[in-house]
Amino acid sequence: MAVKTTEAGTREAVQEFRNEPFTDFSKPENRQAMQQAVEKVRSQLGREYDILIGGERIRTPEKFRSYNPSRKSEVIGVFQKGTPELAAQAVEAAYKKFQQWERTPAAERAGILFRTASLVRQRKLELGAWMVFEVGKNWAEADADVAEAIDFCEFYAREMLRLAGPQPLTPIAGEVNELRYIPLGVGVVIPPWNFPLAIMLGMTTAAWVSGNTVVLKPSSDAPAIAAQFMALMEEAGLPAGVVNYLPGSGATAGNALVTHPKTRFVAFTGSKEVGLGINELAAKAPPGQIWIKRVVAEMGGKDSIVVDAGVDVDAAVEGVFASAFGFQGQKCSACSRAIVVQDVYDAFLEKLRARVEKVRIGPTDDPNVYLGPVINETAMRSILNYIEIGKKEGRLITGGKAAGGDGYFIEPTVIADVAPKARISQEEIFGPVLAVLKARDFEDALDIANNTEFGLTGAVYSNSRERLEEARARFHVGNLYLNRKCTGAMVGAHPFGGFNMSGTDSKAGGRDYLLLFTQAKVISEKMPPQR
Ligand code: NAD
Repeated sequence: MAVKTTEAGTREAVQEFRNEPFTDFSKPENRQAMQQAVEKVRSQLGREYDILIGGERIRTPEKFRSYNPSRKSEVIGVFQKGTPELAAQAVEAAYKKFQQWERTPAAERAGILFRTASLVRQRKLELGAWMVFEVGKNWAEADADVAEAIDFCEFYAREMLRLAGPQPLTPIAGEVNELRYIPLGVGVVIPPWNFPLAIMLGMTTAAWVSGNTVVLKPSSDAPAIAAQFMALMEEAGLPAGVVNYLPGSGATAGNALVTHPKTRFVAFTGSKEVGLGINELAAKAPPGQIWIKRVVAEMGGKDSIVVDAGVDVDAAVEGVFASAFGFQGQKCSACSRAIVVQDVYDAFLEKLRARVEKVRIGPTDDPNVYLGPVINETAMRSILNYIEIGKKEGRLITGGKAAGGDGYFIEPTVIADVAPKARISQEEIFGPVLAVLKARDFEDALDIANNTEFGLTGAVYSNSRERLEEARARFHVGNLYLNRKCTGAMVGAHPFGGFNMSGTDSKAGGRDYLLLFTQAKVISEKMPPQR
C-alpha cells in the first residue's frame, strides 16, 4: 500500500480511493450552509484578479470581465488580458521552474495534491457558489462539480504514488532493469467553461503531480473560478511558478502558448473546432523546438440514448430528462438525441413532455431552480438558431423559445420526428434542446446512434440481455451506460473520454490518464557476474 506524508510530517497509509459524497440539499442544515456560501461569494463579486507568472503578479492596461449569465450585467470579476508577449513570458517562467520541479520527489508532489484535496473539501460549498454565479450551475450541479474536483485530486495523487513505485519488467540475467515515469516539461492547459472547477483542476493537477509545470489559460467565461483555485494551490504549498495563470483570448494568448517552442504538451478540453485547430498548430515545429508536442484533446459530443421496446418508460424518461437538461444541456456528455423504438415512441414522448414542462427556470442562486441560463449571448443566439432549424426539421413538442428574464434563459425544448441525418441530429447544440428520433427496431436504433462523427457517451434502456450485449459490442462510444443516464461519470469508476471527433480518448479519472503527462525512461545496468 502507498504511503503519504501528512502535514505534521508523519507517514500514513493511503486509504483506497473512494468518491466524494454529494451534499444533500434537502437537509435544512446543508441548505442553510449553502445559502451562507452563496451570500459570501456574492459579497466578493467584482474583484480584480492578476496574471500570475513565476509568482509575479501582473496587471495589463487591457482588461476583460466575466458576468453572471443569470443577471447579464452582474460582474463576477475583472481580469487582465494576456498578450502573446505575456504568453511567451509565462512559458519561459514555467520552463525555468520545470528544471527544479521535475526533481521534486513524486511523494512530495502527491502530498501537495492530497492537501489540495483537503482544502477543496473544506471550501466545497463556497467553490460551488462561485459556479452558481459565474456559469449558472444549480446547487446540485455545482456541488457535483466540486466533488469531482476533489476526486481528481485524491485519485491522481494516488496514481502518482503508484507510477513512482517499481514497475514490472521481465527479468534478464546479469542486468538490473528499471522503468521510470518522468515528466514531459511545460504543459499548456486549456479548459472549457462548463466544468470550470473539475476539468480545469483535473488537467492542471494531473500535469503538475506528474512533475510538469503548467501555463493555465482559463476559459474567458470562467476565469474567477480558476483564480480561486490558484489561491488554493498556493495555500496547499505548491511552489510559485509551477502553475502560471494567464487569462486572455484563446485566439491570441492561447495560440501563442500552443505554438511556443518550449511548450512540450497541450491538455485541451473544449469544442471540436478549437481542438482541431490546436492539434494542427501544435503539429508544426517552430525553429528551436526539439520535440513533437503532445496534444491531449477532449472535444464535443452528440450523445444518444436508445430506448428499446418493453422498457419501464418512466425510468427511461427520467434518464433522458436528466441527461438532456441537467445544466441546461451544456455537458459534453449530455443526451441530445433520444432514439426510441416505434412500439414505445408515443408513450415515451407524452411522458417526456409532461416531465419537461414541470421544470422551474431562473437564476441559480435560488435553490429551487432546476434550469439556469446558458452561458452567454453567443451561445443563446446559436441555440435559438438551432431551435428554429429544428422546428423545420421536426415537430416541436415543448419549449421552443427564450424564457425571458434578465439572463440567458431558454425553455427546455423537445423536437420529435427528427430524421437521422437532420442537422439537429448531427451537430452539437450544447443547450437545452433534445431531438427525438423514431427507430423501426433495436438494430435500426443502434445504427442511428452510431451515425455521427462523434463518439463520446451513449446509453441504452432495454430489458433484453441479448440486446444489451449487442449494444456493448456495437455502440461505438468512449462511455456507454446501460439502463441509466449518460451523464455523471464518476472518477475511478467511469474513466472518461471519447472516440472519433470527440477526442483523443484520454480517459480522465482513470489509470491510464497520468501516462499522457509522462514519458517512460528505461534504465538497464549490467551487473558483474555473481561469484
Ligand atoms: P471552446 O472550444 O470554445 O473553448 C475551450 C477553451 O479553448 C477555452 O479556454 C477557450 O478560451 C480556448 N480557446 C478558444 N480558441 C482558442 C485558440 N484558438 N487557441 C487556444 N485556445 C483557444 O469550448 P467551450 O465553449 O469552452 O466548451 C464547450 C465545448 O467543450 C463543447 O464542445 C463540449 O462538448 C466540450 N467539452 C468536452 C468535454 C470532454 O471531456 N470531451 C468536456 C467538457 C466540454
